[in-house]
Amino acid sequence: MKTFDQLLRDAEVAHGHLCAGQILGVRLAMRGLELLGIDDPHGKDRKRLITFVEIDRCATDAVGVVTGCRLGKRALKFRDWGKVAATFVDIQSGRAVRICAKESSKTLARQLHPEIADKNQQQMLAYREMSIDDLFSEQWVKVTLPAEELPGYKGERIVCAECGEGINFQREVRRDGKILCRACAGERYYEEIS
Ligand SMILES: [Zn+2]
Ligand SMILES: [Zn+2]
Repeated sequence: MKTFDQLLRDAEVAHGHLCAGQILGVRLAMRGLELLGIDDPHGKDRKRLITFVEIDRCATDAVGVVTGCRLGKRALKFRDWGKVAATFVDIQSGRAVRICAKESSKTLARQLHPEIADKNQQQMLAYREMSIDDLFSEQWVKVTLPAEELPGYKGERIVCAECGEGINFQREVRRDGKILCRACAGERYYEEIS
């Protein structure tokens, strides 16, 4: 396992800048791996881990860097809940731990470094120094992962009866005997114009 400083440098490069979110994200992911006893997520342990992230902000990029879990490898799952939290699942042992940044950590950062006016700078320093207990809440959880959620899943590819687009990983909707994609089933996030 790389050191905190090495991982932070990697996170800075991947994310494009150094920020409080990178420090928080690196520490959060390192803690998750520590609790699961995974020490080589980019090497021998690289197929052991699936990570759920609950926000699309700075810290999420750092979680991806530390764990090596990526969306395109199906090892990073996004649940858009707006929480600075992540769940680390060891698919070898079945153990999983969810770690969430404490709301109180921002106030604590202010109390620790009132001399630093810039909030990001203040949090960057405080999040380095604060104890794991002050930063995060932790819970052991059970995550049920069906086969189609795992990396490497090979299933049939299905075509939407309405738009004709292909659908992977059992994301189709069956309605009135028809197979539909989620867009045609009513979950469209876009409107076609022309
Ligand atoms: Zn950032
Ligand atoms: Zn469709």
